[in-house]
Parts: sequence; structure tokens; C-alpha cells
Amino acid sequence: MERRAANRKGDGTLAWLRGRNRDRVVEVLRALGRTSQADIARTTGLSRTTVSTLVAELKDAGLVFEVDGRAPGARGGRPGVQLVLHYAPGAVVGIDFGHSHVQVALADLAHNVLAERTQDMDVNHRAEDALDASARMVDEVLAEAGVERALVTCAGIGIPGPVDRVRGAVGSATILPGWLGLHIGDAMRGRLGLPVEIENDANCGALAELTWGAGRDCSNFAYIKAATGIGAGIIIDGRLLRGASGTAGEIGHTTLDQAGALCYCGNRGCLETVASGPAIIRLVSEARQEAPNLARVIELAAAGDVRCRRAISDAGREIGVAVAGLCNLINPERVIIGGLLSRAGELLLQPIRESVRRHAVLAAAERVDVVPAVFVERAELLGSLALALRSSSGTLTAGP
Ligand SMILES: [Zn+2]
Repeated sequence: MERRAANRKGDGTLAWLRGRNRDRVVEVLRALGRTSQADIARTTGLSRTTVSTLVAELKDAGLVFEVDGRAPGARGGRPGVQLVLHYAPGAVVGIDFGHSHVQVALADLAHNVLAERTQDMDVNHRAEDALDASARMVDEVLAEAGVERALVTCAGIGIPGPVDRVRGAVGSATILPGWLGLHIGDAMRGRLGLPVEIENDANCGALAELTWGAGRDCSNFAYIKAATGIGAGIIIDGRLLRGASGTAGEIGHTTLDQAGALCYCGNRGCLETVASGPAIIRLVSEARQEAPNLARVIELAAAGDVRCRRAISDAGREIGVAVAGLCNLINPERVIIGGLLSRAGELLLQPIRESVRRHAVLAAAERVDVVPAVFVERAELLGSLALALRSSSGTLTAGP
């Protein structure tokens, strides 16, 4: 699982330190096989009391168990209790439907990714083909990792549109035109023969950051996915906020200008009309022969292109206005900026921070840290795995 050394305010908090120490104990057990509590303390440099507390927690969670430390066949002598990491015999599948790709991954319950597949395709308009392709890719990752389908406890599925969890269908016809009327839950359960959980892409990104990324030590945060569209995944008290029909976090359709440009959602002046990937590309393309894609605009900005730099920082300022409103409503501890646009780094983040300071109430603005996401390209795929892991029992879930 990819991780990045964290360097943020709050990293020294007790919950974060505890999580990190617990991970170190698990890592030593994974590396050494069976070992004693004293050896774990020696190897990690943690105190015996700390190790004892952490091991007790891991035992309670069913992740570690005790074995007799005597050599096989030995009689007498001090038995000496040793500890072994319990690899629960199970796995989960994660499926990410992007607008133009399908990604599938298989992970064990100890959070190790065992196999992955990616295929480019027109997911927006060819829903049935995308579902068929994902089912084939699940067969392939199971075969590659040598895992029996019967061991898979859940498939987590991320889709790039709002999800009505009650109906198991896409909640809006304007965002994913080819998926209208499709009951993804039933369709995927039938194809995979597995229990499934479905979330929208921004919620998956939030789950990835909550489980392994910039939200690990944080129970109240908003994850913003800024890419072709702009969406938010909102974590309140360590849980996703979904809303009545699954559209919580549709921050991209916040009205910034009532007389603004017409948005594909049917409203005017939405955040996406001025700050989404296509809006930025439109702006910078006017002076060019060829329209660059969003990744290229970010590259050009990093190389000093003034138009690209201005377009990205203006987008940041607009995103910040919507984020300020979100801060007033939910008072998050952190706002995590992800999605392809976040590759622009401080060029995007700084104007977001300025807008939040300017437009949010002082108490909310002072409390919130705006930080980059840990995961960008694989955020939704990892999030779909996190979704499946969280819905399976006996998993090692990080966070407070
Ligand atoms: Zn809109």
C-alpha cells in the first residue's frame, strides 16, 4: 500500500502516534513470524508497557493470537508465550469505474494489494460493457493471485456519479447518461456472485484518505476531488456523510453566480462551470493551436506558463469559496485536496486557503488545515478496497 511520510500539523497527536505504533508492531510480527512481546519491544524500541497495550488491542481485534513458544516436541522448560499475526483467510475486491477507465484490485484482509488491472474504455456511455469488463478483470486478478472466489467477502465499487444506496442505482441521469435506470448493485452482484458495496468516487477518495492517507488521524474532514468534475467526500465522526439520496458532497454544483454560464446539471454558474478541468482547459486553449489536457496544463503551469498558472490559481480561489461554505456548515478539522488538479500543489492550495480565510466564519477558518491528498491517480481504486474492507468483519482499520 503506498504511503507518504506525513508532515502536517496534528501528526503528533495521540491517536496518530498510537496508530503508527500499532502498525510498527504489526510490521514486526509480519517480518519475524512468531515472536515474543519482549522481542517486539526490542525491535521497535517501544516500551514494554506500550507494546503490551497494543498487543492486547490487536488480540481483542482477532488480529494476533498466542502460541506455545517451545520448540516442536520439546518437553518441560519454560513454555514462553509467543505471538503470531493472524492472517484471516479472506480477501476483498475493489472496482473503480472512472469516466474513461475501469480499474480492479484484489487485497487480503491485512490490506496488502495482491493484483491489479486497468482498462481504458468509454464508461459514461457504455455501462453494460464496463460492468462486463470489470467482471472479467475480477476473474483475472483472482487467477493471478491464486485466490478462490469463495474467500472474497465483499466487492467495493466506486462510480463517478451520485449513488442512491437504497435503490443501488446512479442517483442522477445528467452526470452518467449511459447508466440511467441501471441497478448497479443487482447487476454487479449477478455478474460477480459476491456481496457488493457502492459509493461515488469522491466518497471512495475520502475513504482511502481516512484509511491510509491524509485523514488517518482525523475524524472530521472533507476530501475534495478536483478533476474533470469537482466533488466532496465528507467524513463526520469517522463516518461518511451520504445524505438522504446519496448526493451529499456535490460541491461542484454550488451556485457561485446566478447569472453565470449554464452547467450540464441544468443550473447556472455552478462551481464546475468556472473551476473544473474542462473550464480550465477552455480558458487556456483560447491562445493555443491545440487544447492541452488537464495534466499538460498542470505541467505547463509548473514550467512557468503564466496563463496556465493564472487559470489554476483562479480555479483554486473559486473552489475555496465553495469550501468556505462547507467549512461554515460542517466545521471540519481538515480539508484534503485530491483529484488530478491537486497535482498543481501550492499553486492550487494557496488560493483555496485564502478564499477559506476570506469567506468562512473566523472560528471555522482558523480551525481548518487545507492539505494535499496522499493519493491521486489510485485514490478511487484504493477507496473501493477500503469500502470493501470496512464492510468486511475483522479488518485492521486505521484511524481513531
Ligand atoms: Zn451544475
